[in-house]
Parts: sequence; C-alpha cells; structure tokens
Amino acid sequence: MNNSFDFVVIGAGIVGLTVAYELIRRKPNARIAIIEKEAAPGMHASGRNSGVMHCGIYYGSDTLKARVCASGAKRMIEFAKTEGISYRQTGKVVLATSEEQLSSVEKLIDNARKNEIPAELIDHQQLREIEPYAAMGPAAIFCPTTAVIDSAAVVHRLREILQAQGVEFFFDCCVIGQDNDTYLKTSQGLFSYGFLFNCAGAYADTIAKYFDLAEDYVLVPFKGIYWKLSPTANPKVRSNIYPVPDISLPFLGIHFTRVISGDVYLGPTAIPAVGRENYGKLEGLSLLEGGVISLQLLKMYLRNENNFRMLAHLELGKYNKSNFLQAARKLMPTLTLDDMIPTEKVGIRPQLVNLNTRKLEMDYILERTAKSLHVLNAISPAFTGSFAFAEMIVDQVTGSL
Ligand SMILES: Cc1cc2nc3c(=O)[nH]c(=O)nc-3n(C[C@H](O)[C@H](O)[C@H](O)COP(=O)(O)OP(=O)(O)OC[C@H]3O[C@@H](n4cnc5c(N)ncnc54)[C@H](O)[C@@H]3O)c2cc1C
Repeated sequence: MNNSFDFVVIGAGIVGLTVAYELIRRKPNARIAIIEKEAAPGMHASGRNSGVMHCGIYYGSDTLKARVCASGAKRMIEFAKTEGISYRQTGKVVLATSEEQLSSVEKLIDNARKNEIPAELIDHQQLREIEPYAAMGPAAIFCPTTAVIDSAAVVHRLREILQAQGVEFFFDCCVIGQDNDTYLKTSQGLFSYGFLFNCAGAYADTIAKYFDLAEDYVLVPFKGIYWKLSPTANPKVRSNIYPVPDISLPFLGIHFTRVISGDVYLGPTAIPAVGRENYGKLEGLSLLEGGVISLQLLKMYLRNENNFRMLAHLELGKYNKSNFLQAARKLMPTLTLDDMIPTEKVGIRPQLVNLNTRKLEMDYILERTAKSLHVLNAISPAFTGSFAFAEMIVDQVTGSL
C-alpha cells in the first residue's frame, strides 16, 4: 500500500469531511486521505447533535464562530437543496423567563445587528401565534432563519461525493503519533503527507499534543442527554424553543427541537462527564483518561471557576427526570412527566479549558506547524458553520499548498 498523500485529514466528522470537500474543490488532482478510527463517518458529535442550523445570534462579532455560522448555514442549505437532503427552515424563539435575563436579550439583539442576522423582539401575541404553548416571559426573540436538517444524511452524502472524487477513506484506523511533521503513525502503519489537517473532534487536542501544540489546554467533556416528547405532547412544539443562555458559558441550555423526522427532542444537558466518548454509564471509559478528566473536574469544582460548582450541581441533577422537567417547564409551563419519554440520543461536547485563564474556551481555536493545522474546540455550532469553516481552514494554509 502506498500511504503517501498530498493531504491527510484526521477525522471523518463534519469538519474533516468539509475540509476534504474544500480541498478537492480547489485541487481536484490531489491525493487525499481521510483517516478515521471508527468504521463509518459521523459516529461522534457530528452524528449525535440536535441537527439545528443556528442563525449565529449567540456569537460576538469578533469571534470565528460569528464569521462562519450564518454563511455556513446558507451553504449547508444550498448543499441540502442540490443533494436532495431534507431540511426545514421554520425559525426559532428564544425566551427570557426572568427579568435578570433582559441584559442578555439586549446582547443577543446586538449580536444579531452586528452580524447582520435577522432577529426581532416579539410580543406575547406574536409568540402565541408562533409557539402557542411557550412560556410568556418578560421578552422573546424570533430568529426566522434557524433551520433543522437531517445531519446524518449530510455526512452520508459527503462521504459518497468524496469517494466518487477519489478521496481515500481509511476506516478503523487510529492515529497514535507522528514523526518529524512528515509521517503520521496509525494503527494501520505510517502515512506521509504534504499537509495534514487534524479534525479529530474530541481527540484533536490529544493529537495536537503529538506536535507539541495545544499545550495551554485541557479537555473536559460535557454529556448531553435528551428526552423526547410523547405522541400526545408532540404537537405542543411547532419548531424550536430555546432559553436565553448564560452568555458567559458555551452551552445553550436545554431546548425543544422538532427534528426532520417530526419527533420533538428536549435537551441536551451539559453534564460533566469522565470520558470523551462516555455515552452510557460505563461505555467509552478508560481508566487513564477517566483519571485525568476527574482530576481536572475536581480542580474546577474546588476552585469554583466560572461558577462551576453551581453548573455541576444543576446539570448532574438533570439525570433525574423531575429536575429535567423543572428546567423544561421554564420554557413550557404545561409540560408534565408523562409528556417526556426516554430516548437513546446522547452526545458529548469536547470542551477545552484554558490552563492560563482557567476559563472554558468559547471559540474555535486553530494552531499549526509548518505542515499541519489543528482544529481545536470545534464545539457548537461547528455543524452549522462547517462549509464556511472549512473554507476558512483551507484559506489559512493557502500559502503552503
Ligand atoms: C449534544 C450535542 C448537540 C449539538 N447540537 C448542535 C446543533 O444543533 N447544531 C450545530 O451546529 N452543532 C451542534 N453540536 C456541535 C456539533 O455537532 C459539533 O461541533 C461538530 O459535529 C463537530 O464536528 P467534528 O468533525 O469536529 O467532530 P466529530 O464529529 O466528533 O468528528 C471527529 C472524528 O475524529 C475521529 N477521531 C478522533 N480521534 C481519532 C484518532 N486518534 N484517529 C482517527 N480518527 C479519530 C472520531 O472518531 C470522529 O469521527 C452539538 C454537539 C453536541 C455534542
């Protein structure tokens, strides 16, 4: 096997797939490999998200997220139209449920104005027309461009397109090290590259550390569990109902989403977890990884940075259905325990913590060597923005290509 490539991309999640899509668009004759440790693409965050294409209202205009979210959503919709993938653009409401949230409402409206995103404050009458069962609080925002998409279909179609264009996929192939910024060590032997893109999601920081990068960061996983609305409660939600988030944190708060299948999901939580792929109770746990993460969580708990103690207590409490319901009822007061049915859906956010500032990193981070670029902290809305993000990533190394 000749494992020598112009470009090697690590990770067949949405970021790795769209980077390869952008590379092949610019260099149709290049030899490109995608190395993926699982047997198929999209087995982690890209196959486990809410499927919401965010409008970009949450992100300050100076962030990478703001630069690629709205433009990425437009490109994703164009892709869906061309490829016949289901999506629905029905907008979302963001609800303030207490007076204390009004300053955050102002900030969101300001973001929308600066990022040129359509968003408007609506009154109770308008809210009742859009989402009749939503809580009537002190303020509500309507974002008409928010959409939902069949994210599994996007991943599946990208794989087909890339394979048809000659991109080579190496599944069940785990990256375990590197040599001299020229060779990648994997469970299937050495790969040499002209340029490498590390898009390994929850393990991107681990791989970056093989290159002496990402030294300022440590990863803390946050688990997102969901409930589903029962068939009788399902019609209570028309599209998307979100809370006003705590804008100092990278989490949006549990929300209602009517997905493409017509089911309505309620979630996700942001529960501190002890494994990067710890989806079940013990699934995806390793002693070493669990030990390192537990130690970091303990430090954050003891230092109480970012008000972590309260976040941990609140979120861990959501393993309990009644506590989960309590959070959901802030958005929909008539919801009952019987309206919520269990679901297997669960995802993990690979959140980086900055060791210098001791804060949760809010934005994407790009680090590089002469021959490699590493995409760190590709948290939400990296699915939404992926096509535009990939363009920005490839632009960063244009001089080296
Ligand atoms: C619960 C939840 C809900 C979300 N909801 C939304 C939403 O509604 N809208 C939105 O825009 N975003 C959402 N997101 C965020 C979004 O899903 C992610 O930002 C995005 O999918 C990240 O893509 P990725 O390619 O970086 O990571 P991934 O999809 O995790 O892909 C990384 C890939 O790298 C592979 N890999 C890792 N290590 C190695 C190795 N050593 N060797 C080889 N391969 C390796 C993994 O197996 C994986 O396939 C959500 C995330 C979560 C967890």
